[in-house]
Amino acid sequence: MHGQLNLVSVGPGSAALIPPLAREALERSDAIVSYGLYLTWIQPWIESKEIHSLPLTQERERAALALSLAREGRTVSLISSGDIGVYGLAPLVFEMLAPEETTDVRVIPGITAAQSCASLLGAPLGHDFATLSLSDLLCPWPWIEHRAQQIARADLALVLYNVQSLARQDGVYRVLDILLKHRPPETWCGIVRNAYREDSTTEVCSLAELRHMKFDMLTTLVIGTRFTERNGRFLYAPRGYLGWESQPNLPENAVWLFTGTRDGNALAAECVASGLPCVISVASEYGATQARKHAPGAHVVAGHLGETARRALLQKSKARAVVDATHPFATRISEQLMRLCSELNIPYLRYERPSNPLPEGVHTVADMDTAASEAARLGTRIFLATGVKDLPLFLQSENAPQKKWFARVAPNPESIEKAIAAGISTTHLCAMQGPFSQRSNEALWQDWAIDCVVTKDSGDVGGLPEKIAAARALGIPVVVVQRPALAYPQMTSDTAGVLAWLRSTNISTTPIHSV
Ligand code: SAH
Repeated sequence: MHGQLNLVSVGPGSAALIPPLAREALERSDAIVSYGLYLTWIQPWIESKEIHSLPLTQERERAALALSLAREGRTVSLISSGDIGVYGLAPLVFEMLAPEETTDVRVIPGITAAQSCASLLGAPLGHDFATLSLSDLLCPWPWIEHRAQQIARADLALVLYNVQSLARQDGVYRVLDILLKHRPPETWCGIVRNAYREDSTTEVCSLAELRHMKFDMLTTLVIGTRFTERNGRFLYAPRGYLGWESQPNLPENAVWLFTGTRDGNALAAECVASGLPCVISVASEYGATQARKHAPGAHVVAGHLGETARRALLQKSKARAVVDATHPFATRISEQLMRLCSELNIPYLRYERPSNPLPEGVHTVADMDTAASEAARLGTRIFLATGVKDLPLFLQSENAPQKKWFARVAPNPESIEKAIAAGISTTHLCAMQGPFSQRSNEALWQDWAIDCVVTKDSGDVGGLPEKIAAARALGIPVVVVQRPALAYPQMTSDTAGVLAWLRSTNISTTPIHSV
């Protein structure tokens, strides 16, 4: 007769949260293997059974004992709190199972601490979230920190298990410091101790405050995202990214400047100085830092917003006008802004940075595809200064395998990861923030024996003259991709033009736009 091993989840610690399937399994079993505390929760279903109670630390022993009893033909329940598959005993049992195992193994799911603790806080896990155990007994600490970094960057809500023990004091603060690098100090967090047990406590505080607290092994922490909201004693994750709508203190009737470039920030500073309320919208956190530095006083909105969220923001804040000073090659955002402005009846102005005529001898091409074939014709060691999103096109082009590809990208982890994923070898990759002088271009290209450079017509601000001069000094060809031509309804190439437009009566006076 084959035995049966039930891997039974008994929830956070209240009989009412033990699932009926678990009760059935317990009643069916003739032997129970558990840590002592859990026995008190399941008492009604295990009277007169053979009980094996082993200490909390002896996890392997508990799993091995349960399995050996089942192999004798018994019906056994092995117990974990919460969910047995989440930092529980189930994986240990599967590690021990023989390939030809005849024992009937069943896993009974339960309510894990993430869920029980979240329920006491409100609904902080209402959107995407991750869990991380801070116990390094079975996992090397550097992996835990690395995962914390990835989760922090992904802006996922985070549930921390095994937060702090007598032997592990520092880890939690190291993880909180990582989180504080990526999330505002005022991010909402929850501390739940002994959820659904007798002396349960729940507390809400900020991420910065957590940094000064002490915890124990009966505690679970829930770390919010920058969207997590508080309503009275409850925390919740707004559903969907219309959560952007509820950006605090977003000024109404402001001029919205879409930038993310150096000249865009300089322009934004002038607009702020003109006295009109301004919102600066940028795509990245780096862009936000720069915007705050160069145009203090403006409200900065950062992130890759979808069209729906952007519409909601412009509409709700009653945007007075939109100045599109995005990068000349960022056509998708410009198209989106023109579409939204026309739909919402918001005046739109394109600020296009000046484009000087290109010197003779430069290989001008209309698009990236042509640039790829032109570069392959002209060089063998090709330097790409196009921007990270164009790299795959070059590395997948027809002659790519016969060439050596080099690239310079923005120094953020995403760009570096994308460049490597596109096939740029790490020895051929430079990740650095511009601007670059002619000398630094020359030094880099000489060291790498570059024989062809590809770049975009991003104007003086984009460092084009320094690239052309460096290539000329080294006697190597430059392929320049022309700016894509969009049909802008209104356009200017200087700050004075933007300010004059903002002063025009239909924008500077009371808002003409109401929803
Ligand atoms: N299998 C369990 C987790 C075991 S790891 C589950 O799914 O919930 C042990 C950690 O879980 C504890 O250190 C604590 O962080 C968390 N935990 C378990 N039960 C809890 C409870 N009732 N209240 C708060 N945290 C709890």
